[in-house]
Amino acid sequence: MSTDDTRRWLDPDVPAGERVAALLAAMTLEEKVGQLVQMANPDVERHADLLTAGAVGSAIVASGAYAGNVRDAGTQASHANALQRAALASRLGIPLLVARDVVHGHRTVFPIPLGQAASFDPDLVRACARVTAREARADGVRWTFAPMVDVALDPRWGRVAEGYGQDAWLTSLLGAAAVEGFQGGPDGAGLAEEESLAACAKHYVGYGMAQGGRDYAEVDLGPVTLQNRHLRPFRAAVDAGVATVMSAFHTVDRVPMTAHEPLLRDVLRGDLGFAGPVVSDWDAVGEIVRHGLAMDLTGAATLALRAGVDVDMVTGAYATHAADLVRSGAVDEALLDDAVRRVLALKVRLGLFERPFADEGRAARVHLAPEHRALARRAAASAVVLLRNDGVLPLRPVGRVHVTGPFATATEELLGTWTLDGRGEDVVTIADALRERLAADGVEVTVDDGRFPDASHLAAREADLVIACVGEHPLRTGEANSVASLELPPGQAEVLEGLARVSRTLVVVVVTGRPLALERLAHLGSALVLAFHPGTEGGHGIVDVLTGDVPPSGRLPASMPWVTGQVPMPHDHLPSGRPLDPAGPLGRYRDHSDAPQYPFGFGLGYSAVEYGPVRLSAERLGAGEVVRASVILRNAGEHPAVETAQLYVQAHLASISRPVSELVGVQKVALAPGEEREVTFDVDHALLAHRDARGRLRHEGGPFTVRIAPFAGVGGGAGPSAQLDVDPLPDAA
Ligand code: BGC
Repeated sequence: MSTDDTRRWLDPDVPAGERVAALLAAMTLEEKVGQLVQMANPDVERHADLLTAGAVGSAIVASGAYAGNVRDAGTQASHANALQRAALASRLGIPLLVARDVVHGHRTVFPIPLGQAASFDPDLVRACARVTAREARADGVRWTFAPMVDVALDPRWGRVAEGYGQDAWLTSLLGAAAVEGFQGGPDGAGLAEEESLAACAKHYVGYGMAQGGRDYAEVDLGPVTLQNRHLRPFRAAVDAGVATVMSAFHTVDRVPMTAHEPLLRDVLRGDLGFAGPVVSDWDAVGEIVRHGLAMDLTGAATLALRAGVDVDMVTGAYATHAADLVRSGAVDEALLDDAVRRVLALKVRLGLFERPFADEGRAARVHLAPEHRALARRAAASAVVLLRNDGVLPLRPVGRVHVTGPFATATEELLGTWTLDGRGEDVVTIADALRERLAADGVEVTVDDGRFPDASHLAAREADLVIACVGEHPLRTGEANSVASLELPPGQAEVLEGLARVSRTLVVVVVTGRPLALERLAHLGSALVLAFHPGTEGGHGIVDVLTGDVPPSGRLPASMPWVTGQVPMPHDHLPSGRPLDPAGPLGRYRDHSDAPQYPFGFGLGYSAVEYGPVRLSAERLGAGEVVRASVILRNAGEHPAVETAQLYVQAHLASISRPVSELVGVQKVALAPGEEREVTFDVDHALLAHRDARGRLRHEGGPFTVRIAPFAGVGGGAGPSAQLDVDPLPDAA
């Protein structure tokens, strides 16, 4: 309890709102602006004066500053603590908020978010985020710029790796789970815990629609699609209590998101009810000038502040101009105060005033803890999607297995994009995991990295089984790394074709950061396995699936096209007024079918799982009611299975055209060989609504198809279905 009544904000017993108000009342205009300034990589030697002047509210410790120079256990924390001491020496003693892009792991790296999405498992995503937070906190980080909840329809866009795929419902489910994991529970209630970070839902909004998949390109988006697809995961993140939101780089309908007052103030704050700080993306306030909406940083700062961007990440436009803008009346001081209040409120909620320092001994204790590695291994296995298998998998003991290809011995290439703190030396390679696992069965494992094809072919010829590990380097994925072709990187298909000619049996493992177009691999080898960049325990996770120690349970979080020209291919597209004739050509293209090579939700197990008919507990669903939809699943094979049953609906009549299939439920079910189990989904009336252009929930009722399926079908659906008559919502009819 603080005895100094004039510094009530330091007293944890004073209610949070009062602490913030007391602090705000004590601040000069310059000190207020300081809270809205986010500085990149502050250095305590050079920037102590700024910190102690209260001119910096938060710091982004970006790539290099820690990873390059300050890597030993405890030193990141001591660096953060040194910065903190300088900030606390400021007149009002306001602590610094240290931020970092801790995206899919910290020292222990989990699969990229797209790979985590392949698990279709919110509990797993939550657990990975929790461990990520625990490890990052030990390095003094309090705020992460994750999760990315942009719905990404175009896999050419490199950032598809950072999100949860192409479906808005799945992205909402998993994005909310990640928020809860980072923040220590729902509603931000665990934010002040020792192992929590403030999360950041990014990049608001529609960034996943970058034209042509080119990063930073413009986005054209109608309001109804915006509401039903792109805003949906942000709503879910806000409902889960996400502490912060990042506005994106791009323009939506010709207005940069950093200056987009209607979408930031009216929609995000108004409709979605988001009360935390909005941070700009890196230098995006300054980029308003390049977008052509301001002549200089003064104009850019004016637009961004008015639009509702509270924190200026690294541009310095607020630092230099915000105080003058308030003094000249160009920006209302009340508006600035609101922004400052939100930043201060976050610092209070995080317990930063009470616990500003990191424990410098903690990193050595928690980083790569055995239970973190165990979770990473489980997550890596869950992210593996079995695409084709003629029966060669699971692996059986043979005399000799040869492992080859650039990913056979890869270390840091398994980590994926945005792994500032992961290290190659911690990674379990696919080759090592195979050796470790197969040695027990007396299998000889030979290894090469495929760089010398003649030697590779010789070894392949002599082996009973060849496992070729190919794929894309993480540097081809992530921010600013879009591709025009979704095929394997040049040369790899030829390498595989060569191996197929000399191998008795060939299994292909593709390691990737995005869905690829694998037409050339359609018939190549005996099995095709997809592993999204799997993280520190990648080798173990992949081998656990290859051997059948863990049943393959990953499902595609995005469709895989045959050829690049087919993208985008959302499973939840609208019906066409001119449907295809089932007896006619395969699609609209002269040269190709419309169907994906592998649809959204697809993934095989080692046993076939049969779906019985869909049964509904009622044929009519009234407003406010729930109908139970169930199906009997049967493991018809000889191996254990983990089936991912997916609930899709189609509304046949509404005030707008609605998609041919909307995912609204997922259940993972373990089935022993021969086992039968009933899976039941609650189809809640509210689940079937949609939103109009203004974001109002609409529910016109009418006939619905309810489908429970192993994956999204083409043009509506695979799997059994039933018809349901749904009553309208009385006030929305
Ligand atoms: C990215 C963000 C990231 C930020 C800070 C930007 O370039 O778009 O996703 O959080 O940098 O590193």
